[in-house]
Amino acid sequence: MTFVATVGEILVEILADTPGTGFRHAQPLSGPYPSGAPAIFIDQVGKLGVPCGIVGAVGNDDFGWLNIDRLRSDGVDVSAITVIDGATTGSAFVRYRRSGERDFVYNIKDSASGQLMIDMAGATLLDKTTHFHLTGSSATSESIREAVRVAIETVKAHGGTLSFDPNLRKELLDDSEPRAFFDWVLERTDIFLPSGEEVFLFASARKPETAANELIARGIPLVVIKNGDRGAAAYQEKGTVAMPAYQVEEIDPTGAGDCFCAAFVACHLNGKDLETSLRYANAAGGRQVTARGPMEGTSSLAELDEWISATATTTSA
Ligand code: ATP
Ligand code: MG
Repeated sequence: MTFVATVGEILVEILADTPGTGFRHAQPLSGPYPSGAPAIFIDQVGKLGVPCGIVGAVGNDDFGWLNIDRLRSDGVDVSAITVIDGATTGSAFVRYRRSGERDFVYNIKDSASGQLMIDMAGATLLDKTTHFHLTGSSATSESIREAVRVAIETVKAHGGTLSFDPNLRKELLDDSEPRAFFDWVLERTDIFLPSGEEVFLFASARKPETAANELIARGIPLVVIKNGDRGAAAYQEKGTVAMPAYQVEEIDPTGAGDCFCAAFVACHLNGKDLETSLRYANAAGGRQVTARGPMEGTSSLAELDEWISATATTTSA
């Protein structure tokens, strides 16, 4: 039976109500919203009815329980979320500028998420995992990279598959240790899911299609490039399938990539063809950006079906 798992940060997001620069004065805020890229990913998998769970850590505080309650009610196995007494759940304060850029105040490294490790419950979860998903931005410390390594080795040892969304800034790879780690991940990746320019992080070609083919030649069977409001394209040795995005009013783009990856992986594992998987993934990403809050726009299959029939696509892919 399919079981999808991920490892990584679980946070709350607090969102500024007004556009502008930063947090150096008191201002109206909304939240706390459940968040963290891997948490958003797994919430979207759970909402689609695919059995799944997350290995993570929160503090024994309201921000932690808010996340656990949401994930559990959306169908995610929360047994491998460690509740650490005396630690604080991670947080991200986010404010949009008028240009669409974002200012952040983070507490992640020093939060419970920074202490994440694979305990007995985590090992039990990974033993039954048939597909593991890594969000590259989670692997920011050596201890988390070690946990991810163990997770991938465990899942691969019993024939499981791996998807990898880099979600990385290029600067992180200037360091040789993370670069070697992500090369190791890529060697084991079955579905690579970069966004836009991220496809060039691990390829020397300067065009998306040639970069994707270079990665396929390196042994990755399926490369899916997310292109924001231009939709997405899937590349395989036997050809390419591109699908347009949906026409939406973008309210809050945070989490679109995670929802896209979740819907694509869920459909693909359920045996849907590439076109159908991309259609649902574009819908999950598109619907997500219309909601305020990073996990507020995750969708059930019925919601996606209804949304797809009511929403026009853009013309480009
Ligand atoms: P994130 O901010 O979560 O990291 P990302 O940069 O990884 O996002 P995007 O390419 O921006 O990912 O978005 C992922 C998918 O979500 C797109 O491929 C598309 O299907 C959908 N999407 C995102 N933004 C829009 C938009 N403005 N209009 C329509 N669809 C969108
Ligand atoms: Mg991304």
